[in-house]
Amino acid sequence: MKIYNTLTRKKEDFKSLEDKKVRIYVCGITPYDTTHLGHAFVYVSFDAFIRYLKSKDYSVDYTQNVTDIDDDILRKAKEENKNWKNLGQFWTDKFLEDLKFLNVAMPNHYVKATGSVDKIIEIVGDLQNKELAYERKGNVYYDVKKFKKYGELSKYNEEQMILISKERGADPEDPLKKDPLDFILWQKQKGGEPAWESPWGKGRPGWHIECSAMINKFLGDRIDIHGGGRDLIFPHHESEIAQSESYTQEEPFVKYWMHISMVMYEGEKMSKSLGNLIMVSDLKKNYSSNAIRWLLLSHHYREPWEFDYSEMDEAQEKIKKIEKALRKNKEAGSPDLLWSELESFLSDDFNTPRVLELIEASIGKNSSFARKSLNILGFNF
Ligand SMILES: [Zn+2]
Repeated sequence: MKIYNTLTRKKEDFKSLEDKKVRIYVCGITPYDTTHLGHAFVYVSFDAFIRYLKSKDYSVDYTQNVTDIDDDILRKAKEENKNWKNLGQFWTDKFLEDLKFLNVAMPNHYVKATGSVDKIIEIVGDLQNKELAYERKGNVYYDVKKFKKYGELSKYNEEQMILISKERGADPEDPLKKDPLDFILWQKQKGGEPAWESPWGKGRPGWHIECSAMINKFLGDRIDIHGGGRDLIFPHHESEIAQSESYTQEEPFVKYWMHISMVMYEGEKMSKSLGNLIMVSDLKKNYSSNAIRWLLLSHHYREPWEFDYSEMDEAQEKIKKIEKALRKNKEAGSPDLLWSELESFLSDDFNTPRVLELIEASIGKNSSFARKSLNILGFNF
């Protein structure tokens, strides 16, 4: 099996660290708003991919996090005059409800950042002892100049990194930093914000360190696959590499980086800030779970695409036709007949669009194949 590794920008042969076992981590949501189709594309793609790995007899240890303490949650809680914990739990429940509707299986470990604060403090302390992190007025920063590989994942130069980190919520102009790219590991408590005791005083973790800590705690020093949306490559995943490899002294921390492309709508990337969101909760009212999964998997996970209602309608029609054919024609054909073709597509960087074409072509002729392959990709028939 080959998968495309963002780190090397190449399709590589997949070989797990441990025979027949795959350790995988996928960055989860920050729960302060509802699930849009961009999220669904990420989690349905990984759900289908993990089902495929399991069909190949891999045992899969899958961890996904919830960033349940974050600037956005605190801001929203303040705006709505709600308790930040209740707000986070409310949106986490909504998210899980949407994913359940989409037949996405739960990870082995579904973990909240606030459940790993001890591990976070331990790692930040270790980085400080190694003089790779420094404290300034209750904040602790990672000293990026000490990590020579910083920028290797994103392939950005320093100027680009500064610009993009600013767009994504960092503050390169923070006067406490030695270097504009240094990122925050621990931040001092501001006002009445929730805070934890630490060797640097009361505060809360930075965003990137949360994932490094949860990966180490639940999966170990090195993992096979790290996934997430493509917008997480920089600075989030770049910074995870720096923290984790500095802490464990093991490299590479991640063997294969898999990133899911963005979904566009009305000509732009679907995003909260632009407001051009297609919500799963709205689609649910008119389209079936299988139809939404069909639409998502008809796009290769690395290819950006634009949501279009006519394509959504088409997916619904196709699914209805398939459901009807499978009901009518229960055991026709042999699944083995087309299996090598299916395998050749899925083992080539998980090419689901080609497999859906194959399934469509087999309808009415080989329903045994259609049923078995739809099952592997997580459709519910
Ligand atoms: Zn993450």
